[in-house]
Amino acid sequence: MGGIPTLTVPTIAIAESSARFPVRRIFCVGRNYADHAREMGSDPEREPPFFFGKPADTVVDSGRCLRFPSQTTELHHEVELVIALGGGGVDVRPEDAASLIFGFAVGLDLTRRDLQTAAKKAGRPWDMAKGFDQSAPIGPLRRGLPAAAGAITLAIDGNVRQSGHLEDMIWSVADIIGFLSTYVAVAAGDLIFTGTPAGVGPILRGERVRGTVAGAEPVDVIFE
Ligand code: MN
Repeated sequence: MGGIPTLTVPTIAIAESSARFPVRRIFCVGRNYADHAREMGSDPEREPPFFFGKPADTVVDSGRCLRFPSQTTELHHEVELVIALGGGGVDVRPEDAASLIFGFAVGLDLTRRDLQTAAKKAGRPWDMAKGFDQSAPIGPLRRGLPAAAGAITLAIDGNVRQSGHLEDMIWSVADIIGFLSTYVAVAAGDLIFTGTPAGVGPILRGERVRGTVAGAEPVDVIFE
């Protein structure tokens, strides 16, 4: 057994900067677009948002070639607007949420859908379906606030698979930060994946995946 290990904080790229953004926690919102809620078999009424997490070290930069994950035959893409917090708090009022935002990016909430489906049926946790290594590719962070409206898309080898609109989010970014901060203290370094529009589907080995969000640099990955 060696000495005490040294750990490094995971980071993501910042657009037009050589500095990098340190990641504390990753929170994800489930079913935040009505068309995706329907395709997953649930009723998209305005029930409060629910949250799950991914480990911070699941982040991976755009432009990378990724290992196809183990233990799945159904790797799914979910393109999402990602919010990066530069400040935090508890019980944040939605009208105060914008002051906590450092920037935004486009991310992929990669999902082992077969494991998630089995977990849902058995009433088991989603961790191994959502929180596997390299499950959170993220494009460079753009400083400032995301647009309230605009396109969110995902293409595989140039063919569009997801095409949605930020204005169709059931809960706004400010509302999400408000709800989340009633469950846990949010803090600088937190990333929030804000949900995906309809059109989620499988990624195969060798395919190139590109996600876009209005105003952000794209995220591009390819799977070995
Ligand atoms: Mn998602």
